[in-house]
Amino acid sequence: MDYHYFYAYLQPELSEYDAWFNVKDNQLVLGVSVKDSSKVERYYTRFISYMKEKHNLRIDKQLKIDKWLMPHIRPGCAIDYGVGRVLFAGEIAGFLNPMGEGISAGMESGYCVAQAISQHLDSVDLVYDEYRESTAALHNYMKRQWSFVAGMTDTFKEMKL
Ligand SMILES: Cc1cc2nc3c(=O)[nH]c(=O)nc-3n(C[C@H](O)[C@H](O)[C@H](O)COP(=O)(O)OP(=O)(O)OC[C@H]3O[C@@H](n4cnc5c(N)ncnc54)[C@H](O)[C@@H]3O)c2cc1C
Repeated sequence: MDYHYFYAYLQPELSEYDAWFNVKDNQLVLGVSVKDSSKVERYYTRFISYMKEKHNLRIDKQLKIDKWLMPHIRPGCAIDYGVGRVLFAGEIAGFLNPMGEGISAGMESGYCVAQAISQHLDSVDLVYDEYRESTAALHNYMKRQWSFVAGMTDTFKEMKL
């Protein structure tokens, strides 16, 4: 396997979204996504067995275990820009990259909302207009990513726009 790549495994028997393998700081990173948290150990054990069998994975020492919560991917790629004077950016707003590379979308939407606030301090409506407009390209990019993933396998067809 090439350590430059991020490998995502979409077989439904390995996870409830994807299972992944990559290399960061010369360490192996393996994980599984689940919708039902009670199934995480079962999927993870299965994925580790799969990697041992198919790719001769060998773990000498487990250095770290992490768990994350990820927003549920909703059909339609709707964006929640905010409620009243509370504005949303990043994944919670819906700038959720289904390919996993979400940090840049979080930073870009955060920058856009900050700019909109600084330019229209006196008008909440103008803040929303500006924020919506300045993130239109980002929103379109998210939609394209969602459509792309929806076409990969039947498991993801609910993401079709
Ligand atoms: C395993 C994994 C690997 C990833 N790898 C990459 C990668 O290599 N590159 C990449 O670009 N992206 C990666 N991502 C995605 C990336 O982590 C996210 O897209 C990004 O962190 C989203 O940023 P965010 O600011 O929207 O949300 P978050 O980073 O989730 O920040 C939200 C913050 O709000 C806090 N919070 C929640 N509720 C409350 C509350 N009620 N009050 C106060 N605080 C609250 C949370 O604790 C959290 O700190 C990965 C994600 C996962 C799960």
